Amino acid sequence: MRVLIAGANGKIGQHLVRQMAGSQHSARAMVRNPEQAKTMEELGAAETVVADLEQDCSHALKDCDAVVFTAGSGPHTGPDKTIDVDQNGAIRLIDAAEAAGVKRFLMVSSMRADAPGKAPEKLHHYLRAKQKADEHLRASSLDFTLVRPGPLTNDPGTGRVELRPRLDRTGSIPREDVAAVLLATLDADNTVHQTFDLLSGDDGIAESLVSL
Ligand code: NAP
Repeated sequence: MRVLIAGANGKIGQHLVRQMAGSQHSARAMVRNPEQAKTMEELGAAETVVADLEQDCSHALKDCDAVVFTAGSGPHTGPDKTIDVDQNGAIRLIDAAEAAGVKRFLMVSSMRADAPGKAPEKLHHYLRAKQKADEHLRASSLDFTLVRPGPLTNDPGTGRVELRPRLDRTGSIPREDVAAVLLATLDADNTVHQTFDLLSGDDGIAESLVSL
């Protein structure tokens, strides 16, 4: 599949571009800044497209088979950018994928995005934005999967995870492992229309996805 990665220059995104280069899929890396194209090329992206989630991104989707949304405004911008990017940018790309006939859509959501009120208060605004984007994706006609990791780390990946529709425990997960789960999810047809929480654990990725 030709896969548009929104947020390709981000920390999960860069792992995913690199991992996808060694797979049967090809990455179209979506970046905001043309200067990021060189990094994408070095990581093994098949192609790079410049697009901003705060504007029309339809051109980025041309001839794609799938989208992975792993963009985010990050912790260093104000609450307005959380709405502009994490919520409305995601919704804009979901609508554009539907219009372009790109059926498969993987969303990097977050644990607790379905219940922001149960998370620490400082996360409420962010999780509500993620929740609205997730609800929009669920209501779309797309073959979606909502991947909801817990707190992310920059530790090396271990390839061992726990993923289930709901995990009622705390934990964390390396971004490298989230990328590996996203790549494997593209090949797991049983994950279409599924939502799962994701933390580091004891299980292999492929078998965990199969048993969802
Ligand atoms: P990251 O390193 O901050 O990467 C985010 C990427 O989004 C960056 O490459 C950034 O572009 C891009 N971006 C921001 N605004 C954009 C726009 N308007 N148009 C296009 N691209 C834009 O994030 P990460 O650590 O890889 O995390 C990725 C995802 O995990 C996010 O969706 C986040 O909500 C989710 N998540 C995070 C946590 C956590 O513990 N942090 C937990 C669960 C889920 P630039 O490179 O140009 O800045």
